[in-house]
Amino acid sequence: METHVVDHPLVSHKLTTLRDVRTDSPTFRRLADELVTLLAYEATRDVRVTEVTVETPLTPTQGVRLSRPTPLVVPILRAGLGMLDGMMRLLPTAEVGFLGMIRNEETLEASTYATRLPDDLSGRQCFVLDPMLATGGTLAAAIQFLFSRGAVDVTALCLLAAPEGIAHLDSIFKDSGHPIKLVTAGLDERLNDQGYILPGLGDAGDRLYGVA
Ligand code: URA
Repeated sequence: METHVVDHPLVSHKLTTLRDVRTDSPTFRRLADELVTLLAYEATRDVRVTEVTVETPLTPTQGVRLSRPTPLVVPILRAGLGMLDGMMRLLPTAEVGFLGMIRNEETLEASTYATRLPDDLSGRQCFVLDPMLATGGTLAAAIQFLFSRGAVDVTALCLLAAPEGIAHLDSIFKDSGHPIKLVTAGLDERLNDQGYILPGLGDAGDRLYGVA
């Protein structure tokens, strides 16, 4: 898996404030939104485009437009929803599919509780939004789901990643023949015994939306 840790002072600044335990939910949501837009810029570097001719007020010239089928953006509920607006700001013509996945806090296994995705993802470039790549179980299950419906390449956007999660995705998809890319704002040290990223930022869903 190609892993890209975005190295930019604005990304580091926003990530530091997200980590801060004193940052309240409204500020956390705003900063997560801004951070995702910066990650999206990197994540869409290989988005497919088609050459077109465009008329300027002076003369025709060559340019590009996003190819069809348009990319599919898939936030993983619930915490991935906090990344959706930041992503769509750069890709407003993308379609959005939803995957509801929950992690069993004892076994750390991921299971799917809701899906709203096209049946046929043949030829689609997919961008999966999940703030925390921890054990990698949730993201692996989500990516497998997309490939099973015909997606051709998948880019995951995560605010933070742990080495254990990256190793898990590498082991699952190394022989899959499908390109997978990870774009993240930070690669942290490790997981704790409860599967939380250290130093991390805590529970991303709770920090975005409270403990409901
Ligand atoms: N999910 C979170 O929200 N935070 C972590 O640190 C790990 C998984």
